[in-house]
Amino acid sequence: MKAAGKVSLVGAGPGDPELLTLKAVKAIASADVILVDDLVNPAVLSHAQPSARVIPVGKRGGCRSTPQALIERLMIREAQAGKRVVRLKGGDPCIFGRAGEERERLLAAGIAVEIISGITAGIAGPASFGIPVTHREVATGVVFVTGHTRGDGEPDWAALAATKLTLVIYMGFARASHIASALLAAGLAPDTPVAVIAHATTPSADAMLCTLSALAIDPLPPRLSSPAIIVVGKVVKYGALHSEEQPFVDSISLARIPSAAQ
Ligand code: SAH
Repeated sequence: MKAAGKVSLVGAGPGDPELLTLKAVKAIASADVILVDDLVNPAVLSHAQPSARVIPVGKRGGCRSTPQALIERLMIREAQAGKRVVRLKGGDPCIFGRAGEERERLLAAGIAVEIISGITAGIAGPASFGIPVTHREVATGVVFVTGHTRGDGEPDWAALAATKLTLVIYMGFARASHIASALLAAGLAPDTPVAVIAHATTPSADAMLCTLSALAIDPLPPRLSSPAIIVVGKVVKYGALHSEEQPFVDSISLARIPSAAQ
């Protein structure tokens, strides 16, 4: 009888390959098969055995995303064949990473599953610009929320605004101005500080600070691109960018005027 395989759902961290846990490194190093999501820095694969089969399953980089059902079938098949399977996901596998669904499917198929936590972009991204997502003075907690829900649904922005907690918004970049308008309509102050943090912890990391009202009105500068996190709340003021040299920006449009308008 073949040795039973296993699937590890592994967080690869936000981008910087050094922000990988030792447990993640061990799992990658002992994997026979590695399924890699798009936000994973390929540098983390340097820990893999040369014989490991690496399968990209992401949708960026011009490829069509591998359907979720296919990914699940593949993991089940390989694990049933006795292989050690690592499913590498950006950040933490349990934060918008489908770890819950995949674990359920794998367990239902009789496969052993473990979850290896990673550092989520929503904590490391702000931190890399000096922004703590909680702070005793201004934020007693933090909410991780997606900018859009399944089937074009919306999070309950009014309820979120009412919490007065830091909002860390994932997958909200394309709808940033809509989200800002919704939060303003929900009663957040127009001068609420916001940070848009892109490609955090990678060499192309970039961020901008502005007010909620500026985010609602002005277009985002072209230099910023997805993946990006939006942080809303007073903690943003603690960011490294908020200094005498680079004062807090009230109007995004001051920072970048789209070339088409010139
Ligand atoms: N499991 C991941 C999140 C996956 S959802 C985690 O824990 O980080 C994908 C979203 O994560 C992106 O749309 C973006 O909002 C955010 N994200 C991931 N990596 C990022 C990075 N390096 N910089 C900024 N945002 C990032």
